[in-house]
Amino acid sequence: MSSSMERILVIGATGFMGQFVTKEILNFGRPTYLLLRPGSITPSKAAIVKSFQDKGATLIHGVINDKEFMEKIMKDYNIDIVVSLVGGGNLLDQLALVEAIKSVKTIKRFLPSEFGHDVERANPVEPGLSMYKEKRLIRRMTEESGIPYTYICCNSIASWPYYDNCHPANVAPPLDHFQIYGDGNIKAYFVDGNDIGKFTMKAIDDIRTLNKIVHFRPSSNCYSINELASLWEKKIGRTIPRITISEDDLLAAAAENRIPESVVASFTHDIFIKGCQVNFNTDGPKDVEISTLYPDEKFRSLEDCFEDFLPLVHQ
Ligand code: NDP
Repeated sequence: MSSSMERILVIGATGFMGQFVTKEILNFGRPTYLLLRPGSITPSKAAIVKSFQDKGATLIHGVINDKEFMEKIMKDYNIDIVVSLVGGGNLLDQLALVEAIKSVKTIKRFLPSEFGHDVERANPVEPGLSMYKEKRLIRRMTEESGIPYTYICCNSIASWPYYDNCHPANVAPPLDHFQIYGDGNIKAYFVDGNDIGKFTMKAIDDIRTLNKIVHFRPSSNCYSINELASLWEKKIGRTIPRITISEDDLLAAAAENRIPESVVASFTHDIFIKGCQVNFNTDGPKDVEISTLYPDEKFRSLEDCFEDFLPLVHQ
C-alpha cells in the first residue's frame, strides 16, 4: 500500500463523476488539490467547491491543456498522483497533461479519464466510437511515456439507463412506461456513484492495481434491463407497461449523430444489445476485478440505490 501522505491532484472535481471521486478522496483524508477551470461558475458548482474546501481541499485555477502550467503545479505542490475526470468533450485536453506528467517524472500514478467501459474491449458504433478512440489514444500515450497508470472501468452508474438522455446521470426510473432494449435480457453492472468514488480511492492506494485495468463487476449489481424494471415495479408497488426499443431503433438514434444524445444511444446499444460489459473475461495479465480485490467490502446494492428514487415518486 502507498503512503497516506501522497498528494493527489484531481482534475474535473466539479463534474458529474468527479464529485463522487473527489468526495471519497477527501473522506480518506488525503492531501488533495483540485484543478478548477477559471471563469464563471454556477451556484451549484460553487457550493460543491466550497464543500470540498471545507473538507481540506486546496484549490488551483487553470487548465490541463497548458503543459508548462501543469508541470509547474505538479512540481510546486509535489503532486504524487493525478486523477483526471474531464468529460467526453475534453478528453484530448489530456494530451498536454500526459506530456507534462512525462516531463516532471515524479508522478507515481496517473488515472486518466476513463470511468466507464474497457474502451479496448468495447466497440460501440459511432459517435460513441470516436470517444473511445480518444480514450485509447490517451492510454497509448500514457503507456509509451512509461507513466504508471490505473484505468478505472466502473461500468454503469446506478440509475435507469435512458437511451435518449444527454448524460447517463443518476436520474429516476420511469413511472409511465419502460423502454426495454432488445429482448431485455443482456446483463450490465450498475454501481452506486459513491462506491465508484470509494473503490477508486482504494485502487489508487493499492499496488495490485498499478498498471492494470480495474473492472467493477460486483455480482450484487449485475442486472438485465428486464430485472431492473421488475426491481422498480417492486419498489413502487405496481406494474408499468413495457415498450421494446429494438436494435434498429438504437442504431437509428446513434446515426442521427446528435451530440451528446447519439453518444448515449451508441453506448446503450453496446451495453444492452452487444453485451459490452459482460462479453469478455477479466482474467488477462492486465485485468483486476475490484470486488475480488476487496472481498470483505460490500457494494451498495441496487435494491438500496433504487430506494433513493422513491421520494421522487411521491412528489
Ligand atoms: P463532466 O462534463 O460532468 O465534468 C468534466 C469536468 O472536467 C468538469 O469539472 C470540467 O470543468 C473539467 N474540465 C474539462 N476540461 C478541462 C480542462 N481542460 N482543464 C481542467 N478541467 C477541465 O464529465 P463527466 O463526469 O461526465 O465525465 C468524466 C468521465 O466519466 C468521462 O471519462 C466519462 O466518459 C465518464 N462517465 C462515466 C459514466 C458512467 O456511467 N460510467 C457517466 C458519466 C461519465 P468545468 O466545471 O469548468 O466544466
